[in-house]
Amino acid sequence: MENRYRFGVGHQITKPKFLMKSIIWLRNDLRTIDHAPLSYAAENGELLIVYCIDPDHFRQTEYGFIKTGSHRARFLTESLINLREKVRKLGGELVVRRGRPKDLLPELITEASADQLLFHGEVTAEEIRAENEVEASISIPLRRFWGHSMYHRDDLPFGLFTVPDVFTQFRKGVEKKGRVRDPLPAPESIIPLSVSDPGSIPTPEELIGEPVPKSDLGVLTFRGGESEAWSRLNHYFFEGDHLRNYKYTRNGLLGADYSSKFSPWLAHGCISARSIHAEVERYEKEVHENVSTYWMKFELIWRDYFRYSAIKYGDRIFKLGGIQNKNLKKQTDPEQFRLWAEGRTGIPFVDANMRELNETGFMSNRGRQNVASFLAQNMNFDWRWGAAWFEKQLIDYDVCSNWGNWAYNATVGHDPRNRYFNILNQANKYDKKGEFVRHWLPELKDVPKEYIHEPHRMAEEQQGLFGPEIGKDYPMPILDLEKSYERIRSEGD
Ligand SMILES: Cc1cc2nc3c(=O)[nH]c(=O)nc-3n(C[C@H](O)[C@H](O)[C@H](O)COP(=O)(O)OP(=O)(O)OC[C@H]3O[C@@H](n4cnc5c(N)ncnc54)[C@H](O)[C@@H]3O)c2cc1C
Repeated sequence: MENRYRFGVGHQITKPKFLMKSIIWLRNDLRTIDHAPLSYAAENGELLIVYCIDPDHFRQTEYGFIKTGSHRARFLTESLINLREKVRKLGGELVVRRGRPKDLLPELITEASADQLLFHGEVTAEEIRAENEVEASISIPLRRFWGHSMYHRDDLPFGLFTVPDVFTQFRKGVEKKGRVRDPLPAPESIIPLSVSDPGSIPTPEELIGEPVPKSDLGVLTFRGGESEAWSRLNHYFFEGDHLRNYKYTRNGLLGADYSSKFSPWLAHGCISARSIHAEVERYEKEVHENVSTYWMKFELIWRDYFRYSAIKYGDRIFKLGGIQNKNLKKQTDPEQFRLWAEGRTGIPFVDANMRELNETGFMSNRGRQNVASFLAQNMNFDWRWGAAWFEKQLIDYDVCSNWGNWAYNATVGHDPRNRYFNILNQANKYDKKGEFVRHWLPELKDVPKEYIHEPHRMAEEQQGLFGPEIGKDYPMPILDLEKSYERIRSEGD
């Protein structure tokens, strides 16, 4: 599949009219296929690809934990190793340096005598600040490309600041009047700019300064890199034919194939949303077209929606009151937060999801909605703490999707309704037999199905019979769910 693009139809390397010397600054775009700055630079002269391991991405946040944890650190280093191999095969070089882009890029520009800097522009505050700092530190022209969304911003049927707030309106607008561009093939070859030392790619342990554990309990062994992204896509669409039923399986909790699991590769830019879209259309032509194939495109529109919303609302997506500017008072007790973050709330469905996140860096969409709703609504906690915890732990952390979805579930996003999840109903619906809970909470493995989502309801003698002593081996619930729903409902009135 990859080759179809690498040696893509209609792609010709024309002899450049004049040679440009480009540096391509990578961030969340660790790929060769459908990479506009790379294609442009490769067609117009010599180039060097640079990735800066920015200490800001590993700093402590105001919430007391680091921004990038072990799961994403590992995925990042794997992605860089794979990208370096691919770039070298094309004749080029991926330079890896540790430090701030504003300090490193000027040095490399001088060393390589580069005359332009190219990169994919980002849309949120810290990322834009890094771009502006780089711009101020160099004296050659820089050029921002657009490359993270499925619908290019120039192809939207709305202005960037008049994008509809309601998802359905956004979706209908882009489906009717927008278009998804064809992905660009990878360059056939690269003429490299020379640099004395390409730099070594650190281990994940070096990045976070502590051991990086591996778990074999997760739904999938996620390995970073463009090659892995394409083999996952091939597996999900073509070899396993899982796309055929995606709409009906996507709410699952256990197993590799209930949903695509594309998100970590998308978040690191190992594959583009446009490439996935093109492959869905190929599947529709060559294999089968149905509501599930449409649904994959539908979900990718959600991803675009949160990105465009971040442009429209700027820093408001990071504020407690969200884009609705709500005036809220929420609790911020660190001990209460720790119980949620560590998966020790005494509500098994919440705890199982949080333990999966902490151990693997992944959690299903269903799980994310429930734990977010529980923290922000049942616990009445400042939702930004949860978003920051996800930022640390998620292997697929994407600033727009994460903060946008959190705000949405904390009811300060686009949806004006006072929506919340009934955790017990959700648990009984999506984990009827308690298999998911038992998988992640082995202390509850012998609890009978009728008590699995409320083990504290077991009588003392049942507890003795089935294993866990509630309050000792597994916690009592930290709150009364019913009372918390009464409060939520009354606040919504
Ligand atoms: C509180 C919360 C935080 C989240 N944080 C992130 C995050 O940091 N990064 C991230 O990629 N997704 C995030 N999501 C969205 C969603 O949960 C994941 O994209 C999805 O679970 C990834 O699994 P998948 O690739 O198998 O999804 P699939 O169901 O196979 O969907 C295919 C792709 O569509 C996109 N998509 C699906 N649902 C959403 C959605 N609700 N919002 C945005 N894009 C979506 C993703 O790119 C996904 O890979 C979050 C959701 C919630 C409720």
